[in-house]
Amino acid sequence: MVTMSERRVGIMGGTFDPIHHGHLVAASEVQHLFGLDEVIFVPTGQPWQKADKRVTAAEDRYLMTVIATASNPRFRVSRADIDRGGPTYTHDTLRDMRELLGTGAELFFITGADALGQMLSWRDAEEMFKLARFIGCTRPGHVLADPGLPEGRVSLVEVPALAISSTEVRDRVRAGEPVWYLVPDGIVQYINKWELYRD
Ligand code: ATP
Ligand code: MG
Repeated sequence: MVTMSERRVGIMGGTFDPIHHGHLVAASEVQHLFGLDEVIFVPTGQPWQKADKRVTAAEDRYLMTVIATASNPRFRVSRADIDRGGPTYTHDTLRDMRELLGTGAELFFITGADALGQMLSWRDAEEMFKLARFIGCTRPGHVLADPGLPEGRVSLVEVPALAISSTEVRDRVRAGEPVWYLVPDGIVQYINKWELYRD
């Protein structure tokens, strides 16, 4: 009897304030390396790690994520974290994705080296590793190490190095410096149209 193979789905969580080519390259590379059927980008509601910082309206971050991913047939965007409201915990994200995709899907949570390093301190960390495999991607300026993460549930991969962060994009816009080629063209235009990051 032929059994239907499981659907393999990447989950890329982030604040995406704004989304940049570092996010897109990491997602694309993991999609390729792990033969994922699709990658779902999930912009955070209120990121709890950034509670003390000003974060752009969720709707703007969501729309920019849609604009940046629209042309890739394997990329899509979920509103789950934004619509849940309140602070976003990755455990909730994964639980919602599991519910959305059913038990026939294998989940791969994609994260950069910096976020992976903090992961053990995240709420419900143990439960998270039951819901998904974790893929830690190299990120310039951050050490990619396995800080005692559960055996067999975490893979570390090297992705093309792009030393880009949303913080730097915001700072550049504020300073009147160009962000062309750091973010997709549509994002440059969206930032200008709505005058984001000008303070
Ligand atoms: P900020 O500077 O506002 O924190 P950021 O660039 O770190 O923004 P996030 O939205 O915080 O972007 O990150 C979402 C996810 O993408 C995290 O797992 C992060 O590690 C990963 N990531 C972000 N930038 C890169 C990059 N240049 N290379 C690899 N991974 C990245
Ligand atoms: Mg970050």
